[in-house]
Amino acid sequence: MTPQEAYKRLNRLLWDGRLPAATIVIVDHATMPTMHGVTMNGHKMFMKPIILLNHQTPWGLTLVHEMLHVAEPVLEHGKIFDGIVTRYWRYAKKHIPGIQKRRTLKPTPSEKTDENVPY
Ligand SMILES: [Zn+2]
Repeated sequence: MTPQEAYKRLNRLLWDGRLPAATIVIVDHATMPTMHGVTMNGHKMFMKPIILLNHQTPWGLTLVHEMLHVAEPVLEHGKIFDGIVTRYWRYAKKHIPGIQKRRTLKPTPSEKTDENVPY
């Protein structure tokens, strides 16, 4: 399962498909050495989000974290945020087999990144 596929499945499972389609970009460790993932909003509030995932990261949990940013743009990091992520991740592991496989991802080729990331 790719993170892009997992986004669709998680969107359906956890948010009833309410989140906008997103572009998932896999970046190498050198590009993002201190982070597992980051979410950038497109023009208006998360209408076309772009999620960057560090290719060495166990990405399932990170993806749920980043998707919560898309779902709740004003909710800041903290106890509530982490509590939701933990609960959703537990639920996702139960209902989407294979999502927690730890696999090193292949970074997205940069031509494709340029095309998909307008900023
Ligand atoms: Zn975050």
